[in-house]
Amino acid sequence: MRAIEVNNVSKYFKGAKALEEVSFPLKKGEKLIVLGPNGAGKSTLLRLISGILKPDKGFIKVLGSNTIENPKEMRMKISFVGENYSLYDNLSVMENLIFFGRLYGLEKEEIEEKVEYNLERLNAANYKYTKVGQLSRGTKQKIAICRALLNNPEVMLLDEPTAFLDPKASNEVHEIINSSKATIVYATQRLEEIHKIDGKVLILKKGRVEGFGNINKILSKIKNVKVEVYLLESKKLLINGFKILQKGNRIEAELDSAKEIPELISKIIEKGGKILSVSYLNESISGDW
Ligand code: ADP
Repeated sequence: MRAIEVNNVSKYFKGAKALEEVSFPLKKGEKLIVLGPNGAGKSTLLRLISGILKPDKGFIKVLGSNTIENPKEMRMKISFVGENYSLYDNLSVMENLIFFGRLYGLEKEEIEEKVEYNLERLNAANYKYTKVGQLSRGTKQKIAICRALLNNPEVMLLDEPTAFLDPKASNEVHEIINSSKATIVYATQRLEEIHKIDGKVLILKKGRVEGFGNINKILSKIKNVKVEVYLLESKKLLINGFKILQKGNRIEAELDSAKEIPELISKIIEKGGKILSVSYLNESISGDW
């Protein structure tokens, strides 16, 4: 069965299009990264799937139900971590999570056990009794993720869930997602995240789908990519066919698309370069790609 079916969906805000004719299927347990720059329509898509927003055209089915006809029942099976974390500032972390856990019908002990485990994983156990209003954005984000995990959701919708997290906590979140049995839609504008989640990728550009499929299929759609490569030695390498700048043991390359990365790496190795690390220089997807 398809867990999520988005069928020819368009959404307008005061006549301006936020999404246009978006369609894709997602099987039960599949993970989808929605990649796009600011304003591409990622949050709108997640809010439509959650049932908070209604499509102007098309329809969305989640776990077999139309999001318009059956939102309440579905919300029990869906977790959503949005831009605002929907936590109570004047309650402590534990009080918040017990409150939301009780809404899902969980026992206090069960909630506490889960919360302890997940807070520990995300390195936030020290904040258990701190009021949420006093937390940094990153820690609030961790608490929102803990809340989203409380009810063992069948579907998780995560809107840039690692935007304010340190690398270690981000890796934990990726691990939680990769080992989860839930169907997950994960919005991000950070290019490097497409490698970190084991699933499909949907590229959104100005409200339209630019590409959908596994990473192999969509790499060529990711244009104007800059990467940096660090080498063990500072020896100058002669690499033809790429726009390259080498200074000491650092190579900076401008590529037409991400698909060229494996070829670049092969060339560097072929010329005797010993690679220490490779990373994207585009911190996020910029608006003009
Ligand atoms: P992203 O999450 O990719 O940054 P959004 O889905 O937030 O993109 O926004 C897509 C477009 O829709 C943007 O142009 C944004 O300004 C517009 N938009 C989103 N929500 C609203 C709203 N509630 N009212 C008016 N315009 C909105």
